[in-house]
Amino acid sequence: MITRRLLDDPELLFLKRPEVERVGEDPAIATRVSEILLDIERGGEDALRRYARELDGWDGDSFELTRGEIESAETLVPEALREHLQRSRERVEAFARAQRTTLTDLEVEVAPGVIAGHRLIPVAHVGAYLPAGRVPLLASPFMTVLVPKVAGVGTVVACAPPRRDGTIHPSLVYSTAICGADRIFALGGVQALAAMAFGLGGIEPVDMVVGAGNAYVAEAKRQLYGRVGIDLLAGPSEVAVLADETADSELVAADLLGQAEHGPTSPVALVTTSEELGRAVRAEVARQLEELATAEVAGAAWRDHGAIIVAPDRERAAAVSDQLAPEHLEVQTSDDDWYHARLRNYGSLFLGERATVAFSDKGVTGTNHVLPTGHAARYTGGLSVARFLKPLTYQRIEDETATTPIAEAVVAISATEGLAAHGATAAKRLARVGAR
Ligand code: NAD
Repeated sequence: MITRRLLDDPELLFLKRPEVERVGEDPAIATRVSEILLDIERGGEDALRRYARELDGWDGDSFELTRGEIESAETLVPEALREHLQRSRERVEAFARAQRTTLTDLEVEVAPGVIAGHRLIPVAHVGAYLPAGRVPLLASPFMTVLVPKVAGVGTVVACAPPRRDGTIHPSLVYSTAICGADRIFALGGVQALAAMAFGLGGIEPVDMVVGAGNAYVAEAKRQLYGRVGIDLLAGPSEVAVLADETADSELVAADLLGQAEHGPTSPVALVTTSEELGRAVRAEVARQLEELATAEVAGAAWRDHGAIIVAPDRERAAAVSDQLAPEHLEVQTSDDDWYHARLRNYGSLFLGERATVAFSDKGVTGTNHVLPTGHAARYTGGLSVARFLKPLTYQRIEDETATTPIAEAVVAISATEGLAAHGATAAKRLARVGAR
């Protein structure tokens, strides 16, 4: 997340520099993923089963969960957790429905008698990948199963990696079922993406695959893109905290470690206008790591990819944050509204110390947690209903008087381009004006 340009900026003070410099994607992963995809495409069902066995120890008859298996998973989920998941699902649905109302069909007269418009048509078949290798992420189906359903997608199939006993964690099954998944499959990693894209393992080929995952999953989506649509390439989770001298160093440190825990390559950064706060957070991270159950992972992420940057003023702090373009950005300052108005690049913003990334990660604030990483927030937002709606355009010429000026323009442009047949399509229409 930290660029060479930032590291070399003489106006910035680094109280903690990342130890490892990012050098792009790992070519070994790209090669491995391409091998698996090719094997499965050529070898079909046999190859799919072989990879599921080799990589996830799967040893069943069918990848698909039966109705009975889905219903019995529900009985294994404690009632209090079911309640929390239901409430969170409702909030994500409410936010997605509200976003849907801002997206509308459109028709406009661009010149007298020339009508242009678009209709928003949902993608027909979506495959949702639910990451669950290390831990089951229970809010993922809200984002990748429920949101396309709200957009009007016809069928949404879901794949999640099986545990060693061949089953999916019952709470993840429950959470997926309440989001309206049409079918659920115990398939993980590259083989799951391949099955959804190629139509294997009992799955009809989908039009689009969505969902976060580890480096293998992200690379498989990258390689399948074009053959199927994708949402975005969600790499290791990231957070930046923008804070001033009024921030609570204990909360800032906890929030940095809260994302570092995602994986040893997760970048986390504090950008602050207060050197004193920066020093306090550095000490506090070290203290909290001593007590953290997941210190091995979070500590590695902090050591290798953690940064504390002191900027001379709020304008420079905001500019640094925009260069980082972090997936998650927390603002904890006496001037949150100024930052909100000024900032341009982030996946999702958490304003004020009461809001923290985990609230969105778990789906309890209603916003989508599938967000751009690796500086992609410079050009895209996160997953939303909009991603599942195709704005399909159309045009209509209302009457003959409208035909003349536009056909004349096309005759002239086509002649200059040397495209005679294009010109003829316009000239023949011109000839018909008034001839009927
Ligand atoms: P996962 O479900 O993404 O991956 C598990 C699968 O990886 C397994 O089924 C296995 O088939 C495959 N795999 C493992 N090692 C392999 C190898 N050597 N070769 C080929 N395939 C292999 O689960 P995970 O590993 O726990 O990763 C989840 C990731 O999702 C984390 O990195 C997390 O940060 C990320 N995430 C990102 C976002 C986001 O919006 N950016 C949101 C949620 C999760």
